[in-house]
Amino acid sequence: MKDRNLSLRTLCVHGGQSEQGAGPVVNPIYATSTFRFRDAQHGADLFSGKEPGYIYTRMLNPTVKALEDCIAALEEGAYGLATGSGMAATHTTIATLCSAGDHVICSEAVYGPTNTLLTTIMSRLGIEPSIVDTSNLDAVSAAFRPNTRVIFCETPGNPTLVISDIRALAELAHRHNALLVVDNTFMSPILQQPLLHGADIVVHSLTKFLNGHADVVGGIIVVKDQQTYNSFRTVLNHLGGVLPPFEAFLVHRGIKTLALRMQRHCENGRKVAAYLEGHPKIEWVRYPGLPSHPQHEIGRRQMKGPGGMVSFELKGGVQAGRTLMDSTRLCTLAVSLGGVETLIQHPASMTHAGMTSETRLKAGITDGLVRISVGIEDADDIIGDLDQALEKV
Ligand SMILES: *Cc1c(COP(=O)(O)O)cnc(C)c1O
Repeated sequence: MKDRNLSLRTLCVHGGQSEQGAGPVVNPIYATSTFRFRDAQHGADLFSGKEPGYIYTRMLNPTVKALEDCIAALEEGAYGLATGSGMAATHTTIATLCSAGDHVICSEAVYGPTNTLLTTIMSRLGIEPSIVDTSNLDAVSAAFRPNTRVIFCETPGNPTLVISDIRALAELAHRHNALLVVDNTFMSPILQQPLLHGADIVVHSLTKFLNGHADVVGGIIVVKDQQTYNSFRTVLNHLGGVLPPFEAFLVHRGIKTLALRMQRHCENGRKVAAYLEGHPKIEWVRYPGLPSHPQHEIGRRQMKGPGGMVSFELKGGVQAGRTLMDSTRLCTLAVSLGGVETLIQHPASMTHAGMTSETRLKAGITDGLVRISVGIEDADDIIGDLDQALEKV
């Protein structure tokens, strides 16, 4: 389905589905590791790139390619590369764009393991990270070095929901001959399309909103041109962290309802955030849809909705937060996010425990911060559950 004039809602249903001639309405799962050649010349032509086609599933698989085409269309990019996890997407991206001696500027509010990947693993391989508040353009400008290759930005950032200005960061990156990579996991292409605001590359954890059903781990990279795609494909093929066909099928199925789900995540997120902000036991709430959010206006420019992630702190700090998390019944105490079910967790001791407490505090991840991924249940039931749990605090 190549027609880019279709709306995102329609592309969610039809993107990447083969719709020519007689055949199945839903793409089949190509459960095969390898593909038969017509003859020896055909095999040689596929390997030399003279003829396009499938060779071996680590290199390309039709079920996976259909998903890649779908998400590339949703992000208005040219090509997608599906990976075995969101972390594999980030790793592949850094490994493709950077060599030993290069420098990366990374948002300070990011998915915890992204920070760890850059500061403890890539740094060991000679790629230097600077961890910067990317919502502060002066701080980003000051962080550039002659060897800066990449700004890696997550917006809204996990878990503080700080919003960075994608267009301004892209301009800064390009002025310094660097590229802007945006982790768009929290928004999905339905709520934010970073490539349209000047970003060069988008990465996602498919595990979250795109799949939406908490039953797959996966990732994807979206790029804007064939040359970039070829260099990424070569690195991914050799690092080997690809997405298997069955997982690709499940994510592709999940995306059919992505637009509907994101609409409900936004509606419920707004209600839960407003409820929490009005509750006497709550110290503060961060949600892009609240006028109290410090970058509310930038968010309105680049986001089509506030999403389903809400962070807050109780007046009683860490202990009160723990009591709350131990008292919810409907809101499930688990990490991850973006699924149909509401999840609640404590970043300082869970998703962001791998960061030093100093780095966490600098990024605004206080020890009392509680994060909710608001699901698509009835908002009254979610709020009712939080209400009875807050009674116990
Ligand atoms: C979960 C997540 C990742 C990592 O994805 P995995 O699929 O768990 O490897 C990266 N970025 C963000 C914003 C995430 O929420």
